[in-house]
Amino acid sequence: MSEHFDVIVIGGGPGGYVAAIRCAQLGLATACIDDRTGADGKPSLGGTCLNVGCIPSKALLDSSEQFHRLEHQFAAHGISVENPAMDVAQMQMRKQGIVDSLTGGIGTLFKANKVTPIHGHGRLMADKNVAILDTESGELRQTISAHNIILATGSIPVELPSVPFDGQFIVDSTGALEFDRVPQRLGIIGAGVIGLELGSVWRRLGSEVVLLEALDKFLPTADANVSREAARQFKKQGLDIRLGAMVEKVNATPNGLQMVYTVGGEEQSVEVDRVVVAVGRKPATQGLLAADCGVSTDQRGFIEVDDHCRTGESGVWAIGDAVRGPMLAHKASEEGVAVAERIAGKPGHVDFNLVPWVIYTDPEIAWAGRTEAQLKEDGVAFKSGSFPFAATGRAKAMENAVGMVKIVAHAETDRVLGVHMIGPHVSELIAECVVAMAFHGSSEDLARIVHAHPTLSEAVHEAALAVEKRAIHKFG
Ligand code: FAD
Ligand code: NAD
Repeated sequence: MSEHFDVIVIGGGPGGYVAAIRCAQLGLATACIDDRTGADGKPSLGGTCLNVGCIPSKALLDSSEQFHRLEHQFAAHGISVENPAMDVAQMQMRKQGIVDSLTGGIGTLFKANKVTPIHGHGRLMADKNVAILDTESGELRQTISAHNIILATGSIPVELPSVPFDGQFIVDSTGALEFDRVPQRLGIIGAGVIGLELGSVWRRLGSEVVLLEALDKFLPTADANVSREAARQFKKQGLDIRLGAMVEKVNATPNGLQMVYTVGGEEQSVEVDRVVVAVGRKPATQGLLAADCGVSTDQRGFIEVDDHCRTGESGVWAIGDAVRGPMLAHKASEEGVAVAERIAGKPGHVDFNLVPWVIYTDPEIAWAGRTEAQLKEDGVAFKSGSFPFAATGRAKAMENAVGMVKIVAHAETDRVLGVHMIGPHVSELIAECVVAMAFHGSSEDLARIVHAHPTLSEAVHEAALAVEKRAIHKFG
């Protein structure tokens, strides 16, 4: 007889591992199957996020930001250093140390919560049986079953047929996190989140970075003022972002790689040493679903679910990057918790309208809720107020007075409908606004709350005051 659990989770990323821990906390016998192997050849929990996504990218962003400040901003503080140098091997070792400690930490959490980890490739069969295949040979090792199954297999990078990955010169985001030296000229296809974050890393370390973006508009999902300010700041930093650029092919030349692209039908080209393809990610469902398992995927390969993460098969759920919605770690985790609670008979809930977005460039970009453009399209009357970091004492003292906060509120009820930020540490500032929005707060509420002085959060306070044109430290 096959081993039986209350819950089997397939995928050990921030969706799957969080769901498994919450299930176990709720008293359910839980197994979590993950197929990822770390650099040391051992199983490595934590999925894309901990191994090759959020965490290693933020480690490199931090290292490169320190280096950039040392080179370009310390002088303003009166600090001088002769011949600063970046030891890329040390930077990569630090990154790997952080990844190893966090991925190892998931194993410890599993042990503490009595989640059974299984290393292997899971395949959902009929009647909630799961076949576990060896990650290398693909051979069937065992079959287990459960009352409930949570599919949390995440996503993988999209490959352009005309620019296939070669693992060395033409790479995906994982390859771009692992360069062992600073490429002199780096070409990035796609000026989205990954292109901007990883482009920033290597630009700060000295690469000439060119980003080729197919769309005519830069960061179209962000607030228009935020994207405009971001484009201005990135240009100042030397990121060469070319819009409306459709990449046709990449040719090997004696001096490197020639990226051939068209802008408005006209062919152009640029020569680089390495190419990063960052044109989006797609759900990872290869080999996951047996024909008779009862779960279907949509045209783009996402596992079909309803608002409660239920698939078409009773007792089978799916969460995270493998299903509709933004591909964000915190969205995956919250879906995991909500599904675990529903399985345990509790009311699980995720407010999909309030998933914050953060881009960890410098300046950082963060937003939650609706943009002015979306509200206009929906015919919702709104008012807005904004406040620049240049007018806050703390940002000035930090030598980082760039960007602004904008608060958008309903014209009549004053309920906060969206908050849009670009500037220092806005990845942290957005949380206050998400809380206010979750509690259906108004701009008046934010305006009446005492914010400590001098802090960056005063920009949120003043933006809230600006909604009714009564910001104190701003003209007009
Ligand atoms: P994943 O993290 O992809 O985990 C799925 C796991 O399941 C993987 O380990 C996979 O190998 C395994 N698996 C797949 N199929 C099977 C199978 N059949 N059997 C067993 N195991 C299987 N998001 C943020 O919110 N903030 C960030 O700053 C951020 N930065 C990012 C930076 C980069 C470079 C990248 C690539 C992504 C980043 N993301 C970020 C996105 C984030 O990583 C994903 O949204 C998140 O990891 C999705 O979680 P998940 O659990 O759905 O899937
Ligand atoms: P993305 O969707 O953010 O950006 C891809 C960009 O590539 C888009 O602007 C698109 O127009 C462009 N593009 C597509 N095809 C192209 C082509 N042929 N030529 C030129 N440009 C092309 O995707 P991404 O940057 O690959 O990131 C994938 C996902 O990972 C993100 O959507 C996000 O959900 C997640 N992520 C999040 C964070 C974060 O939260 N800070 C960081 C990294 C990744």
